[in-house]
Amino acid sequence: MNIHESKLRFGIAKTARQISQLGYTRSSDGNISARLDDNHLLITPSGVYKAWMRAQDILLIDLDGNQINPYASKKPTSELYMHLEVYQQRPDIRAVIHAHPPYATALTLIGQPFPNELVPEALIGLGEVPTAAYATPGSQRMAENIRNLIRQYEALLLDHHGCLCAGRDLDDALIKLERLESVAQLYWLAHQLGKIVPLPPEELLKLKDISVSYRQNPE
Ligand SMILES: [Zn+2]
Repeated sequence: MNIHESKLRFGIAKTARQISQLGYTRSSDGNISARLDDNHLLITPSGVYKAWMRAQDILLIDLDGNQINPYASKKPTSELYMHLEVYQQRPDIRAVIHAHPPYATALTLIGQPFPNELVPEALIGLGEVPTAAYATPGSQRMAENIRNLIRQYEALLLDHHGCLCAGRDLDDALIKLERLESVAQLYWLAHQLGKIVPLPPEELLKLKDISVSYRQNPE
């Protein structure tokens, strides 16, 4: 194992523990992958408690989903197809986090679209966040349901399920996930207080312009 693979394994395990500590996923839910090279991915196994994920638990697979070490004691996440779909559609994407953050997921339970115009950082950092139609978790249909969306967007809600955040590295995907959940939480809090006052239309146009350049060259 080279140093690059070793570092990436540690990065994925650390991110898994992080999303568990932040409450973005519970139990063994959620999964993380990262591009190792042009033909291989590293991905979290199924059934491992996220708070205890270790670098040696992470599995090596090819872009067709075949496990490189067939004698490994664990199998890749059941949501493998969804991860493979992202990498197939987006050569620029190097990391994918799928989680079940409660505030963001709750929006999908009532059919509420993600409030991407709620505050400036939502629009700038995430842009539009569409909701992928429901499909049984782990199914090929789930991968099909994100296919067109992930070509254009990097943060998606998954109806009655959770979310998917893709990035140029693990940190980028985690930043998107944390922003997504914090905006959803803010939306819930504001709703407890009263009617939400929208940002003015001219400000939204300005923020959309900033959003495009920010996401091309984030600082
Ligand atoms: Zn899931």
